[in-house]
Amino acid sequence: MDCQWACPAHTPVPEYIRLIAEGRYTEAYMINWDSNVFPGILGRTCDRPCEPACRRGRVDEEPVAICRLKRVAADNREDPLSYMPQGPFEPNGRKVALIGAGPASLTVARDLAPLGYEIHLFDEQIKGGGFMLSQIPSFRLPIQVLDEEVDYILRLGIHTHFKHYVSSLKEVLEQDYDAVFVGTGAPRGRDLPDLPGRQEADDNIHIGINWLGSVAFEHTHKIGKRVIVLGGGNTAMDCCRTARRLGGEDVKVIVRSPFATMKASPWEKEDAMHEDIPIIDNHVPKSFVIEYVDDDAADSPPYEGGVAPASGDGVVLSPDVEGVDPNVENHPVGETPTPLLRKEGSKKARLIGMLFEKVEAVYDENGKRSLVPTGEPEVFFPADDVLIAVGQENAFPWIERNIGVDFDKWEMPVVDKTTFQSTHPKVFFGGDAAFGPENVITAVAHGHQAAVSIDLLCKGENLLTHRLPPMVNLHSVKMGIHEWAYDSEIDEYDRPVVPQAPKTQTLINRKTEVELGFDPLAGYEEAKRCLNCDMQTVFAAPKCIECDACVDICPTSCITFTADCEENDLRQRTKVPALNLNQPLSVPDGPKSGVLKVRNERVAQH
Ligand SMILES: Cc1cc2nc3c(=O)[nH]c(=O)nc-3n(C[C@H](O)[C@H](O)[C@H](O)COP(=O)(O)OP(=O)(O)OC[C@H]3O[C@@H](n4cnc5c(N)ncnc54)[C@H](O)[C@@H]3O)c2cc1C
Ligand code: SF4
Ligand code: SF4
Repeated sequence: MDCQWACPAHTPVPEYIRLIAEGRYTEAYMINWDSNVFPGILGRTCDRPCEPACRRGRVDEEPVAICRLKRVAADNREDPLSYMPQGPFEPNGRKVALIGAGPASLTVARDLAPLGYEIHLFDEQIKGGGFMLSQIPSFRLPIQVLDEEVDYILRLGIHTHFKHYVSSLKEVLEQDYDAVFVGTGAPRGRDLPDLPGRQEADDNIHIGINWLGSVAFEHTHKIGKRVIVLGGGNTAMDCCRTARRLGGEDVKVIVRSPFATMKASPWEKEDAMHEDIPIIDNHVPKSFVIEYVDDDAADSPPYEGGVAPASGDGVVLSPDVEGVDPNVENHPVGETPTPLLRKEGSKKARLIGMLFEKVEAVYDENGKRSLVPTGEPEVFFPADDVLIAVGQENAFPWIERNIGVDFDKWEMPVVDKTTFQSTHPKVFFGGDAAFGPENVITAVAHGHQAAVSIDLLCKGENLLTHRLPPMVNLHSVKMGIHEWAYDSEIDEYDRPVVPQAPKTQTLINRKTEVELGFDPLAGYEEAKRCLNCDMQTVFAAPKCIECDACVDICPTSCITFTADCEENDLRQRTKVPALNLNQPLSVPDGPKSGVLKVRNERVAQH
């Protein structure tokens, strides 16, 4: 089924959506927990690859809000603990180390602990969650939602080693672990080291993911009033929205590519713009513009109140710009200031903005894109701080290169895409550490597969041939005939918009959640938009007793029993006339009495 297949963890989507429509939230939550492990977290933050695959999107403007329905189950559930595995579990004598406590490792822990494995979880941070803790801002993912779902796993008897940076995989392997899982993510944010002024203005230039981590762990509480965020992905959106909450009044995102091809999800861009953050596309950063000030001025915050210190008040102007007041008012957006040069006696460089080259996207005959300069003068944007959010990289300085774990030419570990085993038989990788930055649900999916592999390894079985393909445990779900008829109504509701708290509340506190989620009524209406595509109708002529029950319950009246006749006549006789000649009628082998059983494919859903 399309939505379930598109979910990396193959969440049985229609099954839980039907339970939400019935108000059975705890069961709906547990169906999610079983497959995607973090329903409350993912109901707020999932990248939702399932939604473009949803079949409702083919017959309606928008797909079912699969992700936000997950949150309805999470918000309205009762305490699910009694439905979860209860430890202590009988030990199986095997011991596994998990390095990094993000969603990938936590999934391995959740899957293996109930099987009796002794799990040791290491992370340099103070608690579990990985990037869900340090990167996803609290206004999108409240800390209590995260903590609760992490605790559901830790309470399975996991041995935690927080505030513990693992500095040598060799040392871990020398201990008596039967397997080691590396779930250390992609922790290095890309920089722009070669842009002029980068080193000089270092105090006011921040790597986006480091800065977000510093905010999350309460080390950073404020930022300048004018902030430029470089980059067009979701990290840039989180940076700019966080900056708005930390004192940024004039925050803008500036990106090289056209708006339409930015990497950020459409809803993340919408949310940023809703918070009065303009996104300026087709601008390539060329240099950081700095001024030189003496020590006294350097200690005072730059441009307090939006006005730069005047000449003679610490600012040392270069001979080129003698007489030009460096007050920001003199450098409006779009006007290129003369870069200020260092003059004898001045001590400290200070950022005042950035210069950009305007470009446009040009596509060649193969569709390959180039960003071509328009030839217009460079554009200046003033800034007190710049956040660089132009990508993330993997880094494994703690893994020795001579212990049997091979790395490729990009310094990425060589990992099997099915088993997640590295070239060292006991070492597995998953999540962002395996193939580069992705998202939470992909990390969960990797964790499940790595857990299967570790279990097979410990049992001495073949990791490739003994694993089951996804969803081979398909089983028939018995539904009462009336329940089926009721649930399969095609509702005409439009997808509701998720309500948000007012900006007056959310912009003054970075921990106030923006999205309020669907209430139970909106959740019910949205659940009814699901077409129940997993319901497959099977007509077996030898078993048909011509009771006409299928005709009675079919919500779209697609079935007609009728005497044999010419096709044109037949098309008029179906309960919903089948007048579109391009749309075939389905006439399977008929029942015993010889009448035709005709299915109008235009209105049939399953
Ligand atoms: C700003 C931002 C926002 C994001 N928003 C979303 C979102 O809304 N939805 C979504 O699905 N995804 C989002 N992502 C991506 C998502 O967070 C990651 O894809 C996911 O968390 C990866 O999980 P992981 O288990 O591979 O590792 P991570 O979550 O990255 O966790 C790795 C952990 O390993 C620890 N670690 C690393 N090295 C060591 C070591 N040597 N010793 C001990 N500990 C170590 C780190 O401290 C970290 O806690 C976002 C990413 C960023 C940067
Ligand atoms: S309509 Fe429902 S079952 Fe069908 S693809 Fe969408 S969510 Fe899945
Ligand atoms: S976990 Fe994400 S991808 Fe999977 S069904 Fe839920 S919203 Fe869709």
